[in-house]
Amino acid sequence: MNTQHDNNLNDLMAYLDSSPSPWHATASAIARLVAAGFVEVAATDAFNDVPAKGYMQRGAAVVAWHHGSQAGPTSPLRIVGAHTDSPCLKVKPHADAGGCGWKQLAVEVYGGTLLNSWLDRDLGIAGRVELRDGWTTVSVNEPIARVPQLAIHLDRDVNERGVILDKQAHMTPVWGVGAARDGEFREWLAGRADVTPADILGWDLSLFDVTTAAVLGADASLLAAGRLDNQASCWAATVALCHAGDPGAATAVIALFDHEEVGSQSASGAAGPLLEHVIERLALAHGADRSQYLAQLATSSCVSADNAHSVHPNYPERHEAGHRPVVNQGPAIKLNNNQRYATSAASAAMVQRVFEVAGVPWQVFVSRNNMPCGTTIGPITATRLGIDTVDVGIPQLSMHSARELCGTQDPPWLAQALTAYFEGA
Ligand code: ZN
Repeated sequence: MNTQHDNNLNDLMAYLDSSPSPWHATASAIARLVAAGFVEVAATDAFNDVPAKGYMQRGAAVVAWHHGSQAGPTSPLRIVGAHTDSPCLKVKPHADAGGCGWKQLAVEVYGGTLLNSWLDRDLGIAGRVELRDGWTTVSVNEPIARVPQLAIHLDRDVNERGVILDKQAHMTPVWGVGAARDGEFREWLAGRADVTPADILGWDLSLFDVTTAAVLGADASLLAAGRLDNQASCWAATVALCHAGDPGAATAVIALFDHEEVGSQSASGAAGPLLEHVIERLALAHGADRSQYLAQLATSSCVSADNAHSVHPNYPERHEAGHRPVVNQGPAIKLNNNQRYATSAASAAMVQRVFEVAGVPWQVFVSRNNMPCGTTIGPITATRLGIDTVDVGIPQLSMHSARELCGTQDPPWLAQALTAYFEGA
């Protein structure tokens, strides 16, 4: 390992550990942008004196741009998209639940969670708290709650039958003993947020595994952490934009969306107008008319960065022969002719040239015909904007588990490739 690789890996692990919720993933990206000289523009601002390096936050999403020094009204946008959210358990408004002498937290299952992976983990609580006079974020990085698995003595055929979990009946965490009392969670939260219970009007709070990111393997080749899907891509996109040089006659853009895991249909999701509004306002600010803006879209490209499935050594039959990415052999270009991924032959060729210029190896992922294929923000972005898009992602195992697994080489390689893309490769 070289020093640059160690720095990258340490920064990725710091990003993951400081981002237990989409709100924190957004804040962690913004902290890196601000340190690199990016200036905030509010959605309510007129885009008059728009900074060359700027960002706009909307909910737990952020769009940032670096306008090249030679860029004109129809110069291309080079966009990288990713998502800040991950499957998890979120705290319901009336949180105090329980019975049989246990205090429990009422939670809602968010996204396509691998439910069994949340059993018997020490869970912290993080996210956004709405206050009478604004909002704040909290991150309680201590074991507060746990979803206890039923003992094998009370579930004798669990290993043969599989763990069967009902989202409503079986996923309610315990967080103390005694009789549940209404308002208790709000009081606890107020203490952690340093406000009074009456100040709190609502929250968007995720439970998360408090175990920090760890390098794994006798050869230190693997990275274990929660939320690798898709914070590893958020990190790679952000550091690439921060470290890339002047994009010249182009504008480099990152769009980190919320709500991908639940279909992207929201004001801060990829199916909403967030990215479209920012790039149109940027075009208008730089003197483009509507026709020039549409011409700009026609010259632009988008890399949708979201993790891919590495081949699983215990389930090789689940993977298409000839299209089985392995960790630490480079990001995968993801193709699906049924448009679950946005990659076209042309956009795949475009990104192959980027990988070559960046000196980064790459692989190809295609799913089996008899296996449903996941999707990403790629097809949504391509459909909304009409921009040529390619789906790319680092290979990983345990996707949508509370603790996922990827290679240590692939995320820094993805950042390296995205840097070259922003610089015009
Ligand atoms: Zn994802």
